[in-house]
Order: sequence, then structure tokens, then C-alpha cells
Amino acid sequence: MQFALTELKENESWLKLYHSKMLQMIPHQIDSARRSLIEKKKKRYVVGQLKYASKDEWNTFVYNQSGFKIDKRGNTNLLWLSKIGWMEIRLHKLIDGKIKQVTITKRAGRWYAIIAVEAKPSLPKLIALKKSVGVDVGIKNYTYDSDGKDTPNPKNLQKILKTLTRTQRKMSRRVKGSCNYKKAKQWYKIAHERIANRRRDFQHKLSAYYARNYDVVFIENLQITNMVKNHNLAQKIMDAGWASFKNMIDYKCMVIDVEPRNTTVDCSRCGHKVPKTLAIRIHHCDQCGLLIDRYHNASLNILKRGLELWNLPMEHREVTPVEISEIEEAGRNLSAW
Ligand SMILES: [Zn+2]
Repeated sequence: MQFALTELKENESWLKLYHSKMLQMIPHQIDSARRSLIEKKKKRYVVGQLKYASKDEWNTFVYNQSGFKIDKRGNTNLLWLSKIGWMEIRLHKLIDGKIKQVTITKRAGRWYAIIAVEAKPSLPKLIALKKSVGVDVGIKNYTYDSDGKDTPNPKNLQKILKTLTRTQRKMSRRVKGSCNYKKAKQWYKIAHERIANRRRDFQHKLSAYYARNYDVVFIENLQITNMVKNHNLAQKIMDAGWASFKNMIDYKCMVIDVEPRNTTVDCSRCGHKVPKTLAIRIHHCDQCGLLIDRYHNASLNILKRGLELWNLPMEHREVTPVEISEIEEAGRNLSAW
């Protein structure tokens, strides 16, 4: 593909208006997208095909190794891109190290530059397993942990989701390509961007909480792709974005994946199997009498399995008993989801 590019440049003189390295990155990107698709197929994921992006959808380009400079004049930060020139930028972080790559992207009408820097090799993580926690992730509760902290799924996301579907509907009613259509599309993009920003913000705060209070976090190894197939929950699950949440905890402290099978069924105290439908919110073991929230029970199982991975004993944890009245209420409210 790289050779084809050289040939293409001979005939299409407008291509010479662009930085050569930037153009080279495009076949490289397409190639790596194609490769990852093949990899996924091998692992038996259901994958689609690469499709052509329209001019409107093509909103990212990459300067690799060369063709960029960053400078400061007074209080103004400047970025220079080959064939484009100098422009003013708002720098959010001090750049420390050699810049390897600059990615320029347009999201919801704004331009962003993502600067990749060669970092000094960091010291390997030392595992000080003083405090650990098991975390069950879900839809109703974004997380429920083995210390009994439950964090509901943020409602503000649901609110914007409504705006999103509304703008989507508007878009579909308008004539494609018309001025009003473009306007609706812009609204749609902005709503999308807002959802992403709020979700990221929420995930950063929650992951920071876990990093501050624990050394290692055990989470079930969710097969997100399997869950997304369930159409009713799909939107909500996509919204939840646990993969990025896990990543955030992992770079702030440490995440260990735990085998998820039967975490909701097993009794976390005695191991007895207590099968329950999605509607049943309480774990009540008739062998040992444990009576706790189903998600709390699951998170305790996750913690137990995590500690077993390293042959560590289950620490003594106070399990907060749930008030009986609360349980009876939960029993009546069987419309869980
Ligand atoms: Zn039990």
C-alpha cells in the first residue's frame, strides 16, 4: 500500500499539499484496522467489514515522528504542523519528554491535538497487598464492592441519552445533506461528546476512589461482547463502558481479573449454591443464614476468588447485615431492572 501511495502522488498532484508522513500513516492505519479485524475473527468474535468513511466522518489525522513543533511565545502555546503552519493551542499538561506523535482530531466541531510522548521507563509496580477489594459491576449499580459501598449508575448519562435519541430522530426526519440535516447532525455529535465526557469524568472519580483506598481491585472478567448481544440492555451496557473503567483503576493502582462463573449463585460465607433470578435482589442462604444484598454477596465472592489466586486467606470482613424490613420490601419489589 505504501508503494501505491508514491504512485498515486504522481498522478494526483493535490496529495502533495499534505505532509508526506501524515499520508503514510493512513495506509498504515487501514492496515492495522484490517489486521485487528482478522485477529478478532480468529477469536470467533462477530465482526463486520471495513467500510469507506465519508468526507464528513474522516476527522482524524496523524503526524508521526516529524512535521510538528511546539513553542511558546509569551503566554501563548503554539503548535506548528507541516503544510498547515503555526496555530495557537491550549495546553492541558506540561510536555515532558520527546514528542513521538501528534494526532489531530475533530470532535463535535472542536479540534484537539493528542500528543504522544516517549516516557522514561517507569519502575515495575510493587504489589503491596495490604488492602484489597472485590468489585461487582452491573447496570443498576455501576459498582458494588465487598466493603458494602454501592455506586449507582449516574443518572445524568440517562438524561443526555434522551437528548441523543431525540436529535437522532430529528436527523432521520430531515433531508440528508440539507442544511438542517447538518445542523441536527452537529447537535447529535455534541450530545455524544457530552455523554463521553461525563462518563469519563464519573469513571475517573470512581477509579480514583478505589486507587486511594485500596492496593488491588478484583473485578470479574466480563465478556462484554456477550452481554451486548442482549438488545434491551445493549445501550445501557455500552453506556457503562467498564473496559475503560478497569483501565483507569489499573493505571492508578492495580486490577486483577477474576473468573466470573457463579459469583452471584455461591454463598460467600459457606459456598452453598443459592440460585436466583435477576429479579431477586437479596442473597439468603438457608445453610448458614447469610442475608445480604445479592451484589454484595457477588463482590465478596469476587474478593475471595481474587485472594485465592495468590493463596491469601480471606480477611475478616464485617458483613453489614441488612435490615429485615428492607429485605421484605426488596422481596415485594421484584421488578428489579
Ligand atoms: Zn451460606
